Amino acid sequence: MRIVLLGPPGAGKGTYASYFKKKYCIPHISTGDIFRAEIAKNTELGRRIKEYIEKGLLVPDEIVIEVVKQRLSQPDCEKGFILDGFPRTIAQAKALDKITKIDAAIHLYVPMEVAVDRLSNRYICPKCGRIYNLKFMPPKNDLVCDDDGTPLIRRKDDEPEVIRKRYEIYYQTFQPIIDFYKEKDILIEFDNTVGSEVGIPMLEKILIEKNILKIEPCNPSVSIQ
Ligand SMILES: [Zn+2]
Repeated sequence: MRIVLLGPPGAGKGTYASYFKKKYCIPHISTGDIFRAEIAKNTELGRRIKEYIEKGLLVPDEIVIEVVKQRLSQPDCEKGFILDGFPRTIAQAKALDKITKIDAAIHLYVPMEVAVDRLSNRYICPKCGRIYNLKFMPPKNDLVCDDDGTPLIRRKDDEPEVIRKRYEIYYQTFQPIIDFYKEKDILIEFDNTVGSEVGIPMLEKILIEKNILKIEPCNPSVSIQ
């Protein structure tokens, strides 16, 4: 199950990726996470990446592609993987085709206002990092953390205007990638307005029926979080 996962903020990518990762023991690969790890370890690659990021530049395609190529050659990718945030340019998508065969690109989406509604209700405890959702997982008392009583805050990224901007920027960047996989006839469009608890089993069924998901679960009873 070699998957490219595409989707705007608020669509539920993290929840979907985490479910498939735990249930089928395939890695969820985010280039952002690899970059942060390399920078934290202060490797030669990490230092190069850091230079670009500090100048506010995108990491060049050839570096990103090399990072992904190395990551996909690790033994834990043998049964499959979920790529997240990559490819983000057509050059990267074409390079990925040369590295491996992608079975499907999943475009997980929700309308913009659904994303705004979901994310703007997200509040976080600045002390312990616990995340709340005022609609689905509210704190017991008004806007304070259940564990330590700290007043909760909303991240700047989760303010409605910022969410709308992030959503638009997502499609400015990734619409060409969505179109690329549509042309290759391996795009699966999936509307997650129903929410992850309903949506995940539906998508899982689709992937099995399309013979994309062929591996047995390593943890059959994973719950959707
Ligand atoms: Zn807390």
